[in-house]
Amino acid sequence: MRRAEAGVGLPSRVGFATLLIHWQRQAGRSGLPWQGTRDPYRVWLSEVMLQQTQVSTVLNYFPRFLARFPNVGTLAEAPADEVMALWSGLGYYSRARNLHRCAQVVVAEHSGVFPTDAKTLQTLPGIGASTAAAIAAFCHGERISILDGNVRRVLTRLLAFDGNLSQAGAQRELWTLAQELLPAKPGPDDMTAYTQGLMDLGATVCTRSRPQCDRCPVRPLCRAAKAGNPLDYPLKTRTLKRRHESWWLLVLRDKTLAGQRVWLERRPARGIWAGLFCTPVYESESLACSTLPPGLTGQIQALAPVAHSLTHRELRLHPLLLDGQPDPMVEGREGQWVALAMLEQVGLPAPLRQLLAQLPN
Ligand code: SF4
Repeated sequence: MRRAEAGVGLPSRVGFATLLIHWQRQAGRSGLPWQGTRDPYRVWLSEVMLQQTQVSTVLNYFPRFLARFPNVGTLAEAPADEVMALWSGLGYYSRARNLHRCAQVVVAEHSGVFPTDAKTLQTLPGIGASTAAAIAAFCHGERISILDGNVRRVLTRLLAFDGNLSQAGAQRELWTLAQELLPAKPGPDDMTAYTQGLMDLGATVCTRSRPQCDRCPVRPLCRAAKAGNPLDYPLKTRTLKRRHESWWLLVLRDKTLAGQRVWLERRPARGIWAGLFCTPVYESESLACSTLPPGLTGQIQALAPVAHSLTHRELRLHPLLLDGQPDPMVEGREGQWVALAMLEQVGLPAPLRQLLAQLPN
């Protein structure tokens, strides 16, 4: 139950932080190649790689990436194609593009030195609140909580928090509670052990489908374990009426003519946006990239995602903009180039029309 509704306090902050730090130092993971460093570049790189990717996979990529790009300067100077090539196989290629852009911003705007506080770190491309907190806590001992998917699971169980985390209000509330659980006055290295402890607990003990409460260091404080229902947390979003779905829209643009044009294909006769014209649609970024000739994928520009509600679905549209020579881009496709000035005359889904009207130059 949520704290506000239940009228009860948090589990003892001192108890939770102390138990977690002690456990991490005794039994947590150690020896991973990105541990034991205060180098923000290495921490940042590992945090980005670990998003949506297993540790075992990252263990292969991290040393290779670091060998080629040993610091933020070498990464910033590298051609985008080379960065993408080294990332190849890790998936979620927007992470690699953001990584590259972030390195360039750090060099251009911060003299090649990462900001030290989480608030400023969050202003950099691709660095969200949890990644910023991890860098600030690991490298500078900032008293701030991470809250990635694993940690959300641990804390919702610990607190029996049943807010709907697909909603911003519940996310904010859980983040506030996470902050309140931090060690009150962390000693040297305490924030490193605490942050690592949260990660380790989520990854190795409080796992998604088989939490091992019997060997959990915070079991005495855990409300879900006490109630015998850890698997009820976090609240499953499938209880929502609308299904969430992500689409990647490949926006192929020809700027070689005086008036720009985009490539449009007709949607199937059944389903969402049936019969309308649309950019090519894919279920993932890597699928979209796989349809392009080699060498073009590194030039893709990921635009800001757009949310779009349908009757039974919440669509999240991820536009991927690619400017280039028209023939190689569309070879083998069925569709047509349409001048931007003529779009008024073409049947387009509303969010796509809006998107195409606001394309960056
Ligand atoms: Fe997760 Fe069980 Fe530990 Fe609670 S006691 S945090 S449910 S592993």
